[in-house]
Parts: sequence; structure tokens; C-alpha cells
Amino acid sequence: MTTPQYDDQNIFAKILRGEIPCHKIYEDDKTFAFLDVMPKADGHSLVLPKNPSRNILDVAEDDLNAVTATTQKIAKAIMIAFEADGVTVQQNNEPAGGQEVYHLHFHVLPRHEGLPLRPQTGKMADNDLLAGHAEKLREALKSI
Ligand code: AMP
Repeated sequence: MTTPQYDDQNIFAKILRGEIPCHKIYEDDKTFAFLDVMPKADGHSLVLPKNPSRNILDVAEDDLNAVTATTQKIAKAIMIAFEADGVTVQQNNEPAGGQEVYHLHFHVLPRHEGLPLRPQTGKMADNDLLAGHAEKLREALKSI
């Protein structure tokens, strides 16, 4: 199968262009991180390259390296901000791989001993709750 072309109307492209809001955590010249609006754990974050790429199959190597470095920063911040015991990093590619939004992203999920991830309900989390979580992560990033 050949990978389909990047579609710049995907929801993360709109977030990157500032056309729709998000709870931003971090940004540098190559990457952007914000909270998942339907978190599977409190603090569930997403890390993206700013340059367009559909997923890991078409991303440029330097964008992938930049996203990996930012993913590590966010994972460390998650450990502090959510007093986590561990972190799960997940990255889905194409429908068969569980991908739903077609701009490359890494999920970064706080984990606590014995606590499973929440199932996907399709329900958005409370906006104020997400704002509080984003603030905690931004604060934790200052010490990384
Ligand atoms: P994936 O299945 O890896 O493509 O994951 C897509 C993720 O994007 C899901 O976890 C959704 O909850 C999340 N998501 C969808 N729309 C938004 C949005 N507007 N803001 C933040 N996260 C979103």
C-alpha cells in the first residue's frame, strides 16, 4: 500500500495554524505539544512536528528527531506534574494501526501502578480540568 498524501485540513493542522483552540503545553521551532481533549489518563499529551507529515511513514528524519526529543521532555514533565510511576508513549499509523488524525503525533500518557488507561469514550474532558493539567505541565517543564 502507498501512503496517502498529507491533507492540510486535518484537525491538528488547524490547531497548528491557530484556527482552533487547544491546551498548549510546549512549543519550539520544530515541535508543538498540547493535551489530548479526550484523555485516557489525566495529563495525556500529544507531541507533533510543525512541518506537515501524515505519520511515521512519511516524516522527514530531522522532524522525527525533534519530535522524539520533545516527547522525552514531555514524558519527564509528566512524571513530575502527575507524580507518575511511569509513562506510556504510543504512536499510531494508518487506520489499521489505530490512527484517527492524519498529522504525525506521539501520545504521552502518565501511568500509575495498577491503574489501567481509561477507554476511549468519545467524550471531551472538562475544559477547566484540562486547563489545570496544562498549567501543571508547563510549570513542571520549567525544571527540565
Ligand atoms: P490517533 O488515534 O493516534 O490518531 O489519536 C488521535 C487523538 O486525537 C485521540 O486520542 C483524540 O482524543 C485526539 N483528538 C482529537 N481531536 C482533538 C482535538 N481537537 N484536540 C486534542 N486532541 C484531539
